[in-house]
Amino acid sequence: MRNVVIMGSGCAGLTAAIYAARANLKPLVIRGLEAGGQLTLTTLVENFPGFPKGVQGPELIERMQNQAAEFGAEFMEGYVISADLSLRPFVIDLGSATVAARTLIVASGASAKLLGLESERKLLGHGVSTCATCDGYFYRGKEVVVVGGGDTAAEEALFLTRYAAQVSIIHRRDQLRASKIMQDRLYRNPKINFIWDSLVADVLDVNRGEVTGIKLKNIKTGGETTKSCDGVFMGIGHSPNTSLFRGQLEMNEVGYLITHDGSKTNVPGVFAAGDVQDHVYRQAITAAGSGCMAAIDAERFLEAET
Ligand code: NDP
Repeated sequence: MRNVVIMGSGCAGLTAAIYAARANLKPLVIRGLEAGGQLTLTTLVENFPGFPKGVQGPELIERMQNQAAEFGAEFMEGYVISADLSLRPFVIDLGSATVAARTLIVASGASAKLLGLESERKLLGHGVSTCATCDGYFYRGKEVVVVGGGDTAAEEALFLTRYAAQVSIIHRRDQLRASKIMQDRLYRNPKINFIWDSLVADVLDVNRGEVTGIKLKNIKTGGETTKSCDGVFMGIGHSPNTSLFRGQLEMNEVGYLITHDGSKTNVPGVFAAGDVQDHVYRQAITAAGSGCMAAIDAERFLEAET
């Protein structure tokens, strides 16, 4: 029986672990499938307060983990297959083990959607990015492409115009899905151009270990072309990792958990932190802040029971 089980080991989960451990609650962190979360997919993080020269994403995560362990947090490899939240203690099944939890902090994050190309996976962090706020700065004066036609792609493209010389939006249709206001901003921006009806068939150049261009396929004509660029930003959306809570925790239509009064979910004793409940800010610092809130809420919940 655990006082606090934290599902997820990104910024939100680890900050919750630091706070819960310092409150002597001996939290158990289940590290999850993408241990360390989205920061482990990025390189230099320059906007996390306290690091004037920046810090590598994986190093920041390692530091947070060490800090949590220092105060007594425990870590378990593996990922949650199912969780029964109908009765307390909650029963959390990892396949190889079952954990009983008096409180649960869901910090399972959101995963940026990828196209599924092997080259894309290999060049992630080497010219392929899922986060313009994190990596846009490295493309000063360069040429980049953004894949997608929704608000995420629009936001990424607009952000990138601060640095890049040219931003091309690659969209698989000839109409954007993004909101009207975002579309207007895109069309007004002289640095942005559009490549319609096109799919990215490949990212070049895996052999050089950096992005030099993309291979495009026009879905109307079937024609293939190559476009040179220095960076590829995937803006085809994020998926919150919440499918196992469907029917148990309240979520919006695309699966983000709904919290109220801080980090509370609709199930007393279950709290949510980080990108799993935030599709607006999605920053390391906001995830950390909400992890802190969830730990304090869990502590108060347990205190009220004794
Ligand atoms: P969306 O699902 O709205 O858009 C995803 C885009 O990517 C679509 O244009 C889609 O094409 C395209 N796409 C999806 N899969 C592929 C693929 N495999 N290959 C090529 N293209 C693909 O996701 P968003 O993340 O943009 O937005 C999610 C929600 O969050 C929306 O409700 C949005 O309004 C909101 N949001 C709001 C923001 C804001 O208000 N500032 C910022 C970001 C998101 P197609 O159009 O053909 O389906």
